[in-house]
Amino acid sequence: MTNTITDPIIVAGAGHVGLIAALSLAKSGHNVINLGEMPGSSDKRTTALMMPAIHFLQSVDLWTDIEPHAAPMTTMRILDGTRRLVRSPSVTFEATEIGEPAFGYNIANSTLTAVLSDAMKKSTVEHRAVPIVKYDHAGETVLVETGDGSTLTANAIVAADGRSSLARDAAGITARTWSYNQTAVVLSFAHTRDHHDISTEFHTEYGPFTIVPLQGQRSSLVWVTTPEMAAELLVLDRDELAKRVEERMQSMLGAVTIEVAPQSWPLSGLVPTSFARNRIFLAGESAHVFPPIGAQGLNLGIRDVEALTETLPEDGEDLGSASVISAYNRKRSPDILARTGAVDALNRSLLSDFLPVQMVRSGGLELLRAFSPLRSFVMREGLRPGSGFRLSARNAGQQ
Ligand SMILES: Cc1cc2nc3c(=O)[nH]c(=O)nc-3n(C[C@H](O)[C@H](O)[C@H](O)COP(=O)(O)OP(=O)(O)OC[C@H]3O[C@@H](n4cnc5c(N)ncnc54)[C@H](O)[C@@H]3O)c2cc1C
Repeated sequence: MTNTITDPIIVAGAGHVGLIAALSLAKSGHNVINLGEMPGSSDKRTTALMMPAIHFLQSVDLWTDIEPHAAPMTTMRILDGTRRLVRSPSVTFEATEIGEPAFGYNIANSTLTAVLSDAMKKSTVEHRAVPIVKYDHAGETVLVETGDGSTLTANAIVAADGRSSLARDAAGITARTWSYNQTAVVLSFAHTRDHHDISTEFHTEYGPFTIVPLQGQRSSLVWVTTPEMAAELLVLDRDELAKRVEERMQSMLGAVTIEVAPQSWPLSGLVPTSFARNRIFLAGESAHVFPPIGAQGLNLGIRDVEALTETLPEDGEDLGSASVISAYNRKRSPDILARTGAVDALNRSLLSDFLPVQMVRSGGLELLRAFSPLRSFVMREGLRPGSGFRLSARNAGQQ
């Protein structure tokens, strides 16, 4: 006789990944408790969500409420903003080249939190704004102690509790961490020229300077630079800062007015030794941290949630069995390790003053600029791993 498991899934953390995980698992019929405080409106970043993430949000009925607040990105440009000897050609990617209306949509983080918080109220998820302070394993359950002194039991834990994850430690999963001598300065601004739904990434000696469209004549900026220059930018008055932003992008969007004061995010990296162990499944930044290049972080977190939703069996079965744990590890390892490695390598190639590295980067971009099938392949792979390969294989099969 098999036991019927009645303990719920506890989702630790109520950041974007935790909220999307809780809502998606509840929609699949699981009994879900979400623990942790939701972020307020103090996070001034915006997030570019790519089409595969949007298709998943559509499938769990979340996109309809997000879309009215989001701005499309139909074109992506990479421009060399360095003063180096070997300069890279500019490359433009059009979503229409891969048959998509847009690569994705950009939305303010605080708005995304508000929409997800409303969805939580309408869902079956039980949310408690308390942190988890302790985990204990006992047979088929995990005992969870919360900051208000309560104890709960769960059959499985989703560790969406960020980069310093207590749940990851409780699972016995160690992580390799590293830091970069770079800080991202983020802000939003209004401009006098239309952005035409184009996102532009200038590659500079200190990291990317990325402009992403918002609704109206507004855009958000992620300016990756040295910690010293970031400190200098943060204390400039708004007019001076606007002048520096406009100069850096060569007045591409006309005159700039700073709308949202700058914030800074020191850059670091993290990769754990596994992605699930001892009934605890890592999702979001507990499982991967890397620099904000090419809008990958939350998009990868949403793929974690998608994999969890597919992998966790029906309620009533053991959600933390060895076979479920290894299925999740198998699903997530290649994607997470490849993305973390690729973003790290790209970031380091921007910073490198070593001539051969610059030539390889420049040659690679020239190939992308000149060779349209390669460009389509890279665009598809950038959106979702495996989709470029799948299409190439299908095309080869038709020849
Ligand atoms: C400058 C910048 C720009 C970015 N832009 C993009 C982008 O355009 N597109 C993109 O896809 N990604 C982007 N990212 C990455 C993205 O922001 C992250 O991947 C995403 O925020 C991670 O969400 P998360 O829910 O995993 O982690 P977090 O947002 O860190 O949430 C974790 C939550 O867990 C809570 N918590 C911690 N410990 C406990 C506990 N013991 N009990 C309960 N709760 C706990 C925390 O309080 C927090 O609320 C960017 C990152 C940076 C730095």
